[in-house]
Amino acid sequence: MEPSLTSTSTSSLCHHCGRRPAQYLRAVSGERLCLRCLFNSLERKVLKTIRDERLIEPGDYVAIAVSGGKDSLVLLHMLGKFRERGLLRDVKMEAFTINEGHPYSCFYRMSRRDYVKELAAKFGIEYNVYHFRDIFGVTAMELSERLAKAGHEVHMCTIDGVLRRRAMNLIGRRRSWTKIATAHNLDDEAQTVLLNVLMGNLSRFRWYGTYEDAEEKDLIPRIKPLKYIREEEIALYAHYHGLPLMELECPYVTTNPRYNLKFMLAELEREMPSVKYNLSSFGGKLTRILKETTPEAQPKRCKHCGAPSARDMCRVCEFFEKAGLLDAYLQKIRPEINI
Ligand SMILES: [Zn+2]
Ligand SMILES: [Zn+2]
Repeated sequence: MEPSLTSTSTSSLCHHCGRRPAQYLRAVSGERLCLRCLFNSLERKVLKTIRDERLIEPGDYVAIAVSGGKDSLVLLHMLGKFRERGLLRDVKMEAFTINEGHPYSCFYRMSRRDYVKELAAKFGIEYNVYHFRDIFGVTAMELSERLAKAGHEVHMCTIDGVLRRRAMNLIGRRRSWTKIATAHNLDDEAQTVLLNVLMGNLSRFRWYGTYEDAEEKDLIPRIKPLKYIREEEIALYAHYHGLPLMELECPYVTTNPRYNLKFMLAELEREMPSVKYNLSSFGGKLTRILKETTPEAQPKRCKHCGAPSARDMCRVCEFFEKAGLLDAYLQKIRPEINI
């Protein structure tokens, strides 16, 4: 998506500084801002989120998940900048990418590898790529093919998602990460809330905003410093900070339910500019109510690998069992079992 600027007349000055010409209209508040004030406001908002919600604290070892897309590059850029300026003291950081191992991940994620490494190095941040094959013994493609051969069609996004969450916890424990920062933005958050409402997944709100998946709760906390920032504003920030914008469409995305919600929300927003904020804040409120009123269930553990799981067997082990690879997988992760 190319960032679009509002057409402005020279007489329209930035509402914030009153000096430079306004170049961006913030539809939700009606503010007209110059780019410098827009970017300053975005950085302040992200830092405020980190401080108010205590997302990052002294002593933390923060792992920044970098997919290569613009949002993750902006996240890396902002966190690197905050630390460089002494705004995040006594915080260790590592940037990482997970290579799931299918044509899309190889082409898209890996093509940015050198660029991300350079960006991270600019802020003195170590960058590593972790491969599904090293962690699980197979790539997502191989697992998907084994599953299909055994008569189980599983969507590639599901395999990616489930295994990626597990991979992050396994690597995180080896590396002693205390937080995993992901680049989810306001648009992603609004989509998640709407999707859960439409699917009737009330229990999902129990973990909404805190952990991505019930099965992985009580493991390494995920933080989303960009969760109050609109995707459009992230695109502008990326563009004007020289971060590459080209988004390659994942071939698996069109069959993902989120794909339609994105357009639905854009449509709704024209009538109701605050709809994304409203949805996100609704999700947050519901989560607080559910936390106060429903007792924390004792997490069960997977009978094979010991990971927290809603059922007897976690989804990762379920995939490997169906693919006839459970023993090989358990052998591979043996040192991590039950820790
Ligand atoms: Zn200004
Ligand atoms: Zn398991």
